[in-house]
Amino acid sequence: MIRILFIIAGFLILSPNLNLIAQNKPELGIEPPFWWIGFNYPELLLLVYGEAISGTTVDIRYPGIELISVDTVRNPNYLFVTLRISPETKPGSLPIRFRKGKTVVAETVYSLYGRNNSMELHQGFDPSDVIYLLMPDRFANGDTTNDNLPGMIQPVDRSDPNGRHGGDILGIINHLDYLKDLGVTSLWINPLLENNQEVYSYHGYSITNFYEIDPRFGTNQDYLKLSDEIHRRGMKLIMDMVFNHCGSNHWWMKDLPSPDWINEWPEYTHSNYRGGTVSDPYATPSDKETFVRGWFDKTMPDLNQHNPFLKNYLIQNSIWWIEYAGLDGIRQDTHPYPFKDMMAEWGKRVMDEYPDFNIVGECWLPYPASVAYWQKGARNRDGYNSNLPAVFDFPLYDALKVAFSEPDGWSKGILRLYDVLSQDFVYEDPSNIVLFADNHDINRYLDTQGDDIRKLKMAMAFILTTRGIPQIYYGTELLMTTGEDEGHGSIRKDVMGGFPGDERNTFLQKGRSPEEQDMYTWIQKVLHWRKGKEVIHSGQLRHFIPEDGIYTYFRYNETDTVMILLNNNDTVTTFKTGRFSDFLPATAKGKEIITGIQLSDLSTLTLDPKSAQIIDLEN
Ligand code: CA
Repeated sequence: MIRILFIIAGFLILSPNLNLIAQNKPELGIEPPFWWIGFNYPELLLLVYGEAISGTTVDIRYPGIELISVDTVRNPNYLFVTLRISPETKPGSLPIRFRKGKTVVAETVYSLYGRNNSMELHQGFDPSDVIYLLMPDRFANGDTTNDNLPGMIQPVDRSDPNGRHGGDILGIINHLDYLKDLGVTSLWINPLLENNQEVYSYHGYSITNFYEIDPRFGTNQDYLKLSDEIHRRGMKLIMDMVFNHCGSNHWWMKDLPSPDWINEWPEYTHSNYRGGTVSDPYATPSDKETFVRGWFDKTMPDLNQHNPFLKNYLIQNSIWWIEYAGLDGIRQDTHPYPFKDMMAEWGKRVMDEYPDFNIVGECWLPYPASVAYWQKGARNRDGYNSNLPAVFDFPLYDALKVAFSEPDGWSKGILRLYDVLSQDFVYEDPSNIVLFADNHDINRYLDTQGDDIRKLKMAMAFILTTRGIPQIYYGTELLMTTGEDEGHGSIRKDVMGGFPGDERNTFLQKGRSPEEQDMYTWIQKVLHWRKGKEVIHSGQLRHFIPEDGIYTYFRYNETDTVMILLNNNDTVTTFKTGRFSDFLPATAKGKEIITGIQLSDLSTLTLDPKSAQIIDLEN
């Protein structure tokens, strides 16, 4: 019932002309709550939920709309109605009546809108972007009145690292200028959809309603405002989606459409979390099965994307959010865990509708080959094509974690970065890979480096200048750490200054320590320089075998060259650059972009211990 009230509330907010529904038949739920005309794929599947609705006949008359099928499932409270929308159909309100005999037992008016074809929407993201990942519960609390709400189970408790802390959409909107000034171009926000769970409801990955923003974060309207404010600043919005599972309190868990809506086991069986089984030529069928059909967690029922209605439900859900909120991209959670044929179909449907769009899948796998399997167009022996344009570079993250800490060796230390990149031949599109030093699931980079800020700067210099699309985890620019707490909650700490009563406001310069300010300025400088640097976005990459602790690479195109040096030595290192002569003429001059120092003679360079230099060469 809670769900139905939300749906009705959504209708009223989004479509004032639908008051009729609330007045007449408030017991009916339909998802998607409305739709658009003009998609390439002409069919629309409506999930209709209402008591004993399956015993009714469906009456739809609207010019251009054809009723293709009405399907019943095991549960009489569901109907699945498939419509075909011809391109000539006009936007408007579509009456739908449900009859028993001649009696109308339920009716609704379904809205069809024209599409928003603004060029500023659905832009995708690419190596010209820098993605900022933030966890909305932990970023900033812009509205304390939504912290605790009737009907929402888990209250705010900031003393619990794994509890809700009260951050919300308004908190993000209030700090968009901060992010713009910092120089990031795209926001990946952990899921904002309703998570009405008893515990761990803050992280967003236990969705209990696929069409509603969690009211503790705001409303669907607030999400539209967020999108609008992001786009007004020339930035992009990436939505975090989850198809593998839902939250155990999802409304349909109390009244499943059919037993095969979720992957049921005789007793609780969790996934083996071994994503490699999907592409492993030697994996046993049972291991593959347990990976895909096993549950991620007891509170996260595993969805069966092979159910054709659920499959379409999920595909439409993503298209609905893209169109509704003007998304530029999607980050798909636990990408290998759902059935892979469905995921390929989803990727194709989305990219067919939005050719400039981009989707990055979380394929958390240790080797370039195992990640490359999941990228669109991969020449896999089993013929699988994911239609997933982008993947995360987990192998490079693994290398980064130790590259500046362990002693260099034949394949150790800084050589790891070189070795991982040298395997890029396995990727169909090495430029469409998102690289990162940390995220919401792993320890902050600074913690893995014994709080050595020099190594953090080396990692940032690297991900911001090598190939691919860099992603920065919120608070990196403020030297946020994990500290001694345990559990994922502590990886996702609150930004100081985002919450009432914070002792200082690190969003403002005057609230930062000198070290925090130094890091903020450092990242800001590199980001703003990078923004205008096409050679970093699309130029070629050439790297030299690391020698004597120094990794050197060049980005170049026809008009521009940048030289990047990472000194992994713990001592000041002076060395001659003669071996780089193919890219570095003897007369070359340049400017180091972090210090701003002009270098009139690049034949000999002196590098600080554990440091990065980014040298813009003069032509
Ligand atoms: Ca709040």
